Amino acid sequence: MQRLQIQVRTQCRRCGALMRADLDELVARYGGNASLIDRQEQCRMVACDGATFYLAARRYGGPWRILVDDAALRDGLSLCPPAHLAHGRPAPVANAADLPSPQRR
Ligand SMILES: [Zn+2]
Repeated sequence: MQRLQIQVRTQCRRCGALMRADLDELVARYGGNASLIDRQEQCRMVACDGATFYLAARRYGGPWRILVDDAALRDGLSLCPPAHLAHGRPAPVANAADLPSPQRR
């Protein structure tokens, strides 16, 4: 991922905040071969105790894919609030993860 210059973000399940993730920091923390699929982190927004999941885009401006594979974790995504950017602005469709609806699974 680091070599391919993939873009990575986190999205909070509780508050919906989209945050940039730093690949160098992730590699330092988990090692270069670690996977972000199904990895949960504590939300970094002050006063939020939600869990985040990872999203990745292959190139700048490319579509974002949710890095959640586990069926139970994916089902929970349908309960998430809409993703939002700084200042509470809603994420444009191109920036928001395509959350699965419960009836599709
Ligand atoms: Zn949060």
